[in-house]
Amino acid sequence: MDLSIVIPLLNEDESLPELTAWIERVMLANNYSYEVIMIDDGSTDNSWNVIEGLRAKNNHIKGIKFQRNYGKSAALNEGFKAAQGEVIITMDADMQDSPDEIPELRKMILEGNYDIVSGWKKKRYDNALTKNLPSKLFNAAARSMSKIKLHDFNCGLKAYKKKVVKSIEVYGEMHRYVPVLAKWSGFSKITEKVVEHRARKYGVTKFGWTRFINGFLDLMTIFFVGKFGKRPMHFFGLWGTVSFLFGLIVFTYLSLSKFFFDKTGLTQRPLFFFAIFAMIIGTQLFLAGFIGELISRNSPERNNYLIEDKLGL
Ligand code: UDP
Ligand code: MG
Repeated sequence: MDLSIVIPLLNEDESLPELTAWIERVMLANNYSYEVIMIDDGSTDNSWNVIEGLRAKNNHIKGIKFQRNYGKSAALNEGFKAAQGEVIITMDADMQDSPDEIPELRKMILEGNYDIVSGWKKKRYDNALTKNLPSKLFNAAARSMSKIKLHDFNCGLKAYKKKVVKSIEVYGEMHRYVPVLAKWSGFSKITEKVVEHRARKYGVTKFGWTRFINGFLDLMTIFFVGKFGKRPMHFFGLWGTVSFLFGLIVFTYLSLSKFFFDKTGLTQRPLFFFAIFAMIIGTQLFLAGFIGELISRNSPERNNYLIEDKLGL
């Protein structure tokens, strides 16, 4: 199969018929063997009925219906598990992404031998203040943390090689940073293509202002897991030890000065509380690192390596 098109959706019943008709046109024009996998992420509108109706007319269309809303990441993850195509395309259901981009994305994966080609909504049709500006900041931060040169990490329109989607697990709200997850798994041939972005025709955005808080926290997770996930002690142990030693030195100084120079009580001096504080924080950080190490030792994935090739075995 040439292509799997994975579409997560939440309450998008108005868009689906137009979207699938357009996808079908592009598929027929290019003679692709394909499947469209629609993941209904707990819609409360008519979306699932619409999907059933569409499948009755075109059996390339497949559907997965979640019992409740689990989020876009969960939807993508299920879609990735089910996908059979050689190239996997993800796109949003709201028709903000254009199916006309698909042939070029596919070509870049196959001919350019890229693991991921990510869309870049260079000209965006969203609110400038609430979306475009914050998104620029996020992308800059994600770029510098992950060292992946993308302008638009969160673009819904992306193309993947099959082995990439079969090797990564999109969880939580990590759909914003799928290229980073892929890079962690060793797929670093990542590039971008400027894609046409369109204004939302039907319905409303499914992510409110909390997108910024969650996006920020996920960025922190990306940063810490990427850098210290496999060796928490190197972060917590280091800073715990530094803090503890610092407190200990100050404490020793205070004790010595009490016995040999002035007779003011230890606890009368502000520095005393500082020293105690530093030692307690140090111990806590150290313990956090140690527990982290124990957890990662017990993680079932600790020895899951992706082997690219083997000789003579
Ligand atoms: N979506 C989803 N589950 C959710 C939220 C969104 O499957 O919990 C889908 C949504 O239906 C759309 C895509 O994710 O197909 C992108 O969402 P949206 O267009 O609302 O995001 P925006 O374009 O505003 O960033
Ligand atoms: Mg949208």
